[in-house]
Amino acid sequence: MERYDLLIVGAGAAGMAAALGAVRGGAARVLLVDRGDRLGGVLPQCIHHGFGLSYFHEDLRGPDYAARFAALLADAPEVALRLDTTVLELSADRTALLSSRAGLERVAFRRCLLCCGAREKPIGALDVAGTRPAGVFTAGQAQKLVNLGGYDLGRRIVILGSGDIGMIMARRFTLRGCEVVMMVEQAAAPGGLARNLHACIEAYRIPLRLRATVTQVHGAARITGVTVRDLDTGAEELVPCDALVTAAGLIPERELARALLHGGTPPDWLGFSGNCEHIHEIVDSVTVQALALGERMAKM
Ligand SMILES: Cc1cc2nc3c(=O)[nH]c(=O)nc-3n(C[C@H](O)[C@H](O)[C@H](O)COP(=O)(O)OP(=O)(O)OC[C@H]3O[C@@H](n4cnc5c(N)ncnc54)[C@H](O)[C@@H]3O)c2cc1C
Repeated sequence: MERYDLLIVGAGAAGMAAALGAVRGGAARVLLVDRGDRLGGVLPQCIHHGFGLSYFHEDLRGPDYAARFAALLADAPEVALRLDTTVLELSADRTALLSSRAGLERVAFRRCLLCCGAREKPIGALDVAGTRPAGVFTAGQAQKLVNLGGYDLGRRIVILGSGDIGMIMARRFTLRGCEVVMMVEQAAAPGGLARNLHACIEAYRIPLRLRATVTQVHGAARITGVTVRDLDTGAEELVPCDALVTAAGLIPERELARALLHGGTPPDWLGFSGNCEHIHEIVDSVTVQALALGERMAKM
């Protein structure tokens, strides 16, 4: 069985920085694993600017930010990289089960850092009644389909939730010639960063309905519209659309740790970084946290 000083699960912004931090901390054998086919996690699909403002003092796009760390990793022989490989299970005996096209493999490690990112709240987790037709997407899924797959998801789009991902996708759809009929937000103020509100919503005059929510999805095979309710008056309106994009929040992805937690506490050899630890608004803070934690874990 192969043995490593540090196993890092997830090669997004957090995993890449943690691997470099571990090398800085003296680790000689680091294994960096990702189930995707490229480095960067969500970064390659984030083709907008706004990355690296505080870390590099430059306004980079997501893929460019990822490329900087990929180049550093290419010069780090201490880090073995496995893409297209999923970590299926972590065991208390400090081994992990990996699955790839080559089959199943168990590796041993001294410490493990989970950098698994976050999952999006799906429509099923929201209080939305009605049918479940085609044409309902989460914002990150929509971003991947549009930016990496080149797909068109609809012509008249409603976005539920006004966090950063929702705002960025509202602008992206508009630039692709779609009509974002409405962005619906239950709170009294938009959820995302002020810079995204200005650059993505106000600049393109996208209608933003605050104190409102989507209560029902309509359509059989394909979505035909949604019911939008005003949360102050209770008034409801049928809004025709052919796509609904939900941007209703992210949940840290920690499934691998579940069996190892005792009373909520992880074993001392296991750490969390990036969105897997808590949801970060900007990637720069992920990088700073992961570099430091990778270095610390290598020295433990
Ligand atoms: C749509 C969107 C727009 C954003 N816009 C900005 C912006 O403009 N500016 C900015 O600074 N920040 C922005 N951010 C925030 C920033 O990009 C993220 O906080 C950061 O990239 C998260 O990095 P991460 O490594 O924690 O997670 P991720 O990038 O999600 O990486 C997690 C990785 O773990 C892998 N993984 C998970 N489980 C397993 C497993 N069991 N086995 C193997 N691999 C696994 C996944 O495949 C994935 O590659 C944006 C984020 C999103 C989603």
